[in-house]
Amino acid sequence: MDTSLAAPYTTAFGFERTVGPQIGAFLAGLRARRLLGVRVGEDRVLCPVAEFDPVTSAATGDLVELEPSGTVTAWTWVDPREGWDEPIDSPYAWALIRIDGADNTFFHRVDTGGDPARMTPGLRVRVRWAADPVGSIEDIVCFEPPAEPPVPGATDPGAEIGEPVATIEAPFHVDYTYVAGVGRSVYLRGMAERRFLARRCPGCHQVYFPAPDHCARCLQVLDAPFEISGTGTISTFCIVNLPFPGQLVDPPYVVAYINLDGTGNKLQHRVLEVAPDAVAVGMQVEPVWAPETDLEPSLASVRYFRPVDPTLRVPVADQEARDA
Ligand SMILES: [Zn+2]
Repeated sequence: MDTSLAAPYTTAFGFERTVGPQIGAFLAGLRARRLLGVRVGEDRVLCPVAEFDPVTSAATGDLVELEPSGTVTAWTWVDPREGWDEPIDSPYAWALIRIDGADNTFFHRVDTGGDPARMTPGLRVRVRWAADPVGSIEDIVCFEPPAEPPVPGATDPGAEIGEPVATIEAPFHVDYTYVAGVGRSVYLRGMAERRFLARRCPGCHQVYFPAPDHCARCLQVLDAPFEISGTGTISTFCIVNLPFPGQLVDPPYVVAYINLDGTGNKLQHRVLEVAPDAVAVGMQVEPVWAPETDLEPSLASVRYFRPVDPTLRVPVADQEARDA
């Protein structure tokens, strides 16, 4: 079949990071609905604040109170797609805003009620605060043209700022469609049949597994697929010691680059049924396939590789439980 496979993928990880004392104070200010800048050098002010002067790398100085208002300098208009989790109901702008009294620009949303024609260079805007500020950049829902007359109680210059924020949650999540391409789909379909299908370049004779459609060295279309055994040699490896979501076995275990016999490129996979400290560069390994019912057009059809030498093998604890 000369069509490409495609599959939905998600890349995600949780992430919590420290923010530093100056940004921590800035975030604590947002929690109190107060906008702080920071002095740098002789006469400049940054808002949002930074720990270090981006020009001289010197530590930034004293915090200063700023009016939560500014001027739009540049923007791009956003039509949110269905399913996006947006804090504003209508289309809006992502904009650079020069806060009054600051020398840099602040990147944030501007809400003009869904009307892109109201976005102009020099547009005056004010902060719209979140209903329940928590010490996050999202305590500013957006900027917006100031209401006439001003909304009473929208900001409170006397509010207690409190302790600096120490850490913030910054999780990462991307949903996307992986399109394998016609060439790689050949090897993926082979995986569903417990077959390693390699391809050779007619120009430079390089053999690939996994194989693309064109030679990476001379760009020629590769020859028809042929079957190889799937045994190979470890060319380099690492021992994974950190647990993270999605792992099929508990650490420690080995992930290796494996040069399959008869091929010139490398394959990355787990090496199990062996003590991690017994793994070595040059070790001969063989594939262990998933049960018939679990085979799919994916490298996951190979559960892992193990030493060819049975005297090096040890049982894999917990593996079947983690696979479930
Ligand atoms: Zn080639």
